[in-house]
Amino acid sequence: MLKIQNLNKSYKLRKVLQNLSLHINLGEIYGLIGANGAGKTTTINIICNLLKADSGNITINNQPISEATKKIIGIAPQENLLYKTLTCEENLKFFANIYGLDRETRQKQIKETLAAVNLLDRAKSPVETLSGGMQRRLNIAVALVHQPKLVILDEPTTGLDIEARYEIWELIRQLKNQGITILLTTHLLDETERLCDRIGILKSGRIVAEGSLAQLRTLIPAAEIVVVQTAQEEEAIARAKEYGFTPRRYGNELAFWLSESLELKEIISRFDGIAIDSIARQPVRLEHIYVEVTQQD
Ligand code: ATP
Repeated sequence: MLKIQNLNKSYKLRKVLQNLSLHINLGEIYGLIGANGAGKTTTINIICNLLKADSGNITINNQPISEATKKIIGIAPQENLLYKTLTCEENLKFFANIYGLDRETRQKQIKETLAAVNLLDRAKSPVETLSGGMQRRLNIAVALVHQPKLVILDEPTTGLDIEARYEIWELIRQLKNQGITILLTTHLLDETERLCDRIGILKSGRIVAEGSLAQLRTLIPAAEIVVVQTAQEEEAIARAKEYGFTPRRYGNELAFWLSESLELKEIISRFDGIAIDSIARQPVRLEHIYVEVTQQD
């Protein structure tokens, strides 16, 4: 559906995208994740033909990026693109006009899109009277009103409470069920794990890892991860190394990679004589993979 090859972009002397390549398959949810400034929004702006790359190639449905491909894409940007004093319906009408929908299609689409984002009962409400979660849903509706094939959601749940997040996750799943291809950027790794079929990890304008969660898991040679809380960290690390456990830090947590799954009592016995406050076993998660591939050079 979307193929990006060797994309480069610099702002003056600063290289923001460096030979970035990725592909998104038809009907999948692709999660593009990376630190602030990694180049996600720049990539999106180039896909949407809002910004020109210095070099590289992008195709959507085998067509090069152009004014024509803009119609295939719907974008819900990080900052809501809404007129606060206008109603939900009026906002959608404004954007439907930009996409050149005729009157009949426009009316049908506004109604169906409001229903899809669960805001039909708020059609006549001014945006400024909606909750933050409702405004984010309307922002997504703007991206959907012209029936795009590829929807780009730039951090759609940032700043929302968990209930509002659940609603947007459900909406994203419904879009996928309708066959829409989705490019999602987010800083929330649990959101990525829950929703995405494939994930690209971006660092300094390069994709450093890409694949399904199962494929990415193979980048860490651990059967499971054990998080240990102790005041005697140095002793615990030395002991763990004797048993072939690999130490890692995730924020302020001390963890060890285990190459094979062990019974909890066996793990505890490895730390005999060291005052351990707690030991917790975890599967390998996206957070562990992300830290590994973004912190190594
Ligand atoms: P975030 O997660 O914070 O939204 P991002 O991954 O979307 O970050 P971009 O917004 O694409 O990152 O920015 C990538 C880099 O390009 C950053 O270092 C940013 O400061 C720089 N940059 C972006 N736009 C411009 C611009 N118009 N002029 C100069 N530098 C820019």
